[in-house]
Amino acid sequence: MTISPGTSELLSSAGAPAGTRPPSGLDDLWKELHESPAGQGGLTGQAEAYLVAKRLGVASSLYFSLRARHAPTAAHCLRVALCGSCWAAAAELPDAQRDALEIAALLHDVGKVGVPDHVLLKPGKLTADEQLVMSRYRLYTHEIVAACCASPDVLNILSHQGAWYDGSQPGQVECGKRLPLGARMLSILDAYDSMVTEHVYRRALTRERAIGELFACAGTQFDPELVEDFAALIEHNLLHFQAPMIRRWLRELEPSNMHGLLRDEPGRVDVRLLSTPAATDSLHEFHAQLLNSMHDGVFFVDTRLRILHWNRAVERITGIQARTVLECPFSPELIGMANEDGEPIPEERCPVAQVLASGSQKLQRVMVRGRGGRAFLVNLHIVPVSSAHGERKGAAVLLHDASSQVHLEERVQLLQERATRDPLTGVANRAELERVLPEFVASHQEQKIPCSLIICDIDHFKRINDIYGHQAGDEALKVFAEVLQSAAGPGELVARYGGEEFVLLLPNTDADRAVRLAEEIRRNAATRPIASMANQCLTASFGVTELQPGDTPDTMLRRADRALLQAKDAGRNRVVQLGCGWQDNLEEVPERRSWWSRLLSRGPADLLVTRRLVSEVPLCLAAEKLKGFIADHHAEILEVLGSKVRLRIDGMYVPLTRRKTDRPVPIEVVVHLEEQPLELGDRTSRMRTGIWVEVRPVRRRERRAADFEARARQLIASLRAYLMAEEAGADATASSPDDQSQDAAVP
Ligand code: GH3
Ligand code: MG
Ligand code: MG
Repeated sequence: MTISPGTSELLSSAGAPAGTRPPSGLDDLWKELHESPAGQGGLTGQAEAYLVAKRLGVASSLYFSLRARHAPTAAHCLRVALCGSCWAAAAELPDAQRDALEIAALLHDVGKVGVPDHVLLKPGKLTADEQLVMSRYRLYTHEIVAACCASPDVLNILSHQGAWYDGSQPGQVECGKRLPLGARMLSILDAYDSMVTEHVYRRALTRERAIGELFACAGTQFDPELVEDFAALIEHNLLHFQAPMIRRWLRELEPSNMHGLLRDEPGRVDVRLLSTPAATDSLHEFHAQLLNSMHDGVFFVDTRLRILHWNRAVERITGIQARTVLECPFSPELIGMANEDGEPIPEERCPVAQVLASGSQKLQRVMVRGRGGRAFLVNLHIVPVSSAHGERKGAAVLLHDASSQVHLEERVQLLQERATRDPLTGVANRAELERVLPEFVASHQEQKIPCSLIICDIDHFKRINDIYGHQAGDEALKVFAEVLQSAAGPGELVARYGGEEFVLLLPNTDADRAVRLAEEIRRNAATRPIASMANQCLTASFGVTELQPGDTPDTMLRRADRALLQAKDAGRNRVVQLGCGWQDNLEEVPERRSWWSRLLSRGPADLLVTRRLVSEVPLCLAAEKLKGFIADHHAEILEVLGSKVRLRIDGMYVPLTRRKTDRPVPIEVVVHLEEQPLELGDRTSRMRTGIWVEVRPVRRRERRAADFEARARQLIASLRAYLMAEEAGADATASSPDDQSQDAAVP
């Protein structure tokens, strides 16, 4: 196969074929690729077809067979390829190497077309046997690509797919730097994208958490130098490279570059044939909007039980995101369906399948598994759907929450209704936000479920007032509030925080969904003309964060605000997310105090809590994260001695304080960071960060011992989350830099 000269005309952005416009707004395109799985209509499908055809030419048929088989995997390949392209550009790799990496990345999962449905589409974790079946896809990929690809570089990368840096995988021949650079990069890109993507069996990790995981496997699975390189790129905002990279794909790639990469065989490709039909007419949009604003969960299946639609309320109830289940077969196991006594409903008694078979409606009360494994009692209403000619098309399933306990989201909504509103925009005012936020944070912390906060600020609002007048400014505020309100689902709170600053509280929502929602709002605002501004649109910047262990309402809000500032600094009209999110392994570990330390404890005046922690990230990154902790806790830096810092934290509002009138205990925190080698065997090692923490009350004679201990525990939990650190185990070599006892001790 080769790209014929005709293709270049077809694909050049100047002479793009009818029906396949080169996508406008490159940043928007990039974001869309991150938001919905490929191949689900709309611009995404078109833009995707355009990019893939541009990069692969005729070989894009391989990519599109994968997309037909499993759209989320194809979307993953495209993201990995685009991200790899950014990285190669930032690393200034020669063009040939960058080409090989891009193509290998686009095709690295093509072999999944050979994996049977029951494994590929399984809506849960794979068993060991199924993993074995799945793992064969790499072989298939190599076979399929080898049949049409003449580039030894591409094949070389793909033949080392799945290899570990330490050479520990079965059958692995090469290891370390002898593995091709492209294969070592692809392995990191592949793992990173998979970690930050939501799956049915695992929620998406935040960017920071995923980077932490890469560091934890540096030296074993991944090339440690490349992990550092990649982490730096992510930390310093990869977005910087996106626009030039997509531009390169659209304009600069010459078909002649493809000669030699693919086997020689004449052929033409018409991207019109590759793009999916635009499925979004206005009625379709209206229906989607309607379904997404419903408080009840609704999903549709076709006659083969494939899920066609999954609204936001089902996402909230089950904690499963639409993009991870669309096109997958529905089974009772997927949502942990059980009868009222909690006995699981087996596949043979699936009520949805029964309705499809019988053609009559069904009402049934069942339990379903919600986020974090919590069981919800719901009334299921299943209605068969037929065409006008009576042909069975599938079924619609309604889930109505029947649990007697009032939902968190309903409580938030109730508060919202009762509280005062901002007179100009009609959304909640700042006073209401300040009333709701502490309860919002505390209840999610208690239930250990994620929740997120978005803070947004209209860009250059002063100019709007200056150019169009104050009244136009007021109208702009109203329009922006409307955009926010229509994007917010039931139970989600929109509040005006200040002049042109708004906050959104999202119960039961992780950072991944919050970022996508912020993107949606950003796009909607940027495309909504405002009459009194001569039909111009406004833009806004967004800071997003998810609740993390040890958070107070203040730290959560400040972290989001820091993200907003970064979005402004990076050029406005964008979304930035900060924080590691709610991860179970970051939860508080009960303090281990030796019997003698308790015996020696002479009273409140001697209060001191010490901890040894260890973080997989290197010292420079840990120091960067510590800065975030200091800023968000409003800590005063008392002293810096080398890598040791002494802080004073007062805390304006502490939900843990029993009597709200109490002033929180002022606390002194000493944090010492220390580079720590971790031996990986075979005379290799990598660096991680040992952390020694001491927390004591500022006042020598602090009488509120219980308040101090609660606050100290919370601060340590928060520090752990910021630094992505674990309690140092018995094997850890961390010791107090001042050679103190390794136990929590009392002086
Ligand atoms: P940036 O992109 O950095 O956010 O720039 P900006 O101009 O939006 O930010 P800045 O904070 O400098 O200006 C905010 C302006 O918003 C100043 C203030 O006069 C105006 N403003 C605040 N409240 C209202 C209001 O209720 N109505 C109107 N019309 N303007 C308001
Ligand atoms: Mg402002
Ligand atoms: Mg502003």
